[in-house]
Amino acid sequence: MTERFEVQLRKAVHVFAAGHFITLNDDLCEPIHGHNWTVGVDVAGEPDAHGMVVDFIALRDAVTAVLARLDHKMLLPTANPWLTVTTAPGPHGGDETTVTYRGRRRWVFPADECVLMPLANTTSEWLARWIGLSVAESLAASGHPIPRAIRVSVDECLGQSGVWERG
Ligand SMILES: [Zn+2]
Repeated sequence: MTERFEVQLRKAVHVFAAGHFITLNDDLCEPIHGHNWTVGVDVAGEPDAHGMVVDFIALRDAVTAVLARLDHKMLLPTANPWLTVTTAPGPHGGDETTVTYRGRRRWVFPADECVLMPLANTTSEWLARWIGLSVAESLAASGHPIPRAIRVSVDECLGQSGVWERG
């Protein structure tokens, strides 16, 4: 018989509002839009001497801090072969980030309102992975053990989720 322990985090506060667009195929790119993404995190492992797989408070705070980096930002993928993302000084002071889609369309944003992500697309699936890796990194940085298994779900409109799991 095998046993498995897991903690599940579904906090009302774990939501972030951000802008994005994705390329749908070689010839189609969505218009810019936003979502209120809600994030769930599950962590599995052996309970420690105090009976905890992970400290709920530490996990909650790590997720909160990671999502704060995305809230009210424009999320831009830097590993999409159809999009070119560059940042340079703008004409009014402050850097600007410019995105072009196959040389046909162009968007310009204040650089400090963008989060550049090394992803192929800012789909819920890839956002789930980015969030999961960032949460694991944040836990490790604050001296907590890295969870043996972690699963992140990112729901973009109540009932439509991307999921990433490791371990
Ligand atoms: Zn969308």
